[in-house]
Amino acid sequence: MTCAQCGKPLSFNEMGLNRKLNANAEKLCMACMAVRLNVGEERLREKIGEYLAAGCLYFAKEDGGSV
Ligand SMILES: [Zn+2]
Repeated sequence: MTCAQCGKPLSFNEMGLNRKLNANAEKLCMACMAVRLNVGEERLREKIGEYLAAGCLYFAKEDGGSV
């Protein structure tokens, strides 16, 4: 799975963010999603932390290093 905007390979957590935050069919990396949703990347990282804390299985602490 790669970003529909820039072609960057998506990490596990980025795919999780797409499931949670991006209702569009196209999947986006964190940087492109931040632009699309008009939020900072830092805010997206915070959301990952929140979902992790909530036990959401779409996210993992170790994601292969691209976040
Ligand atoms: Zn992208």
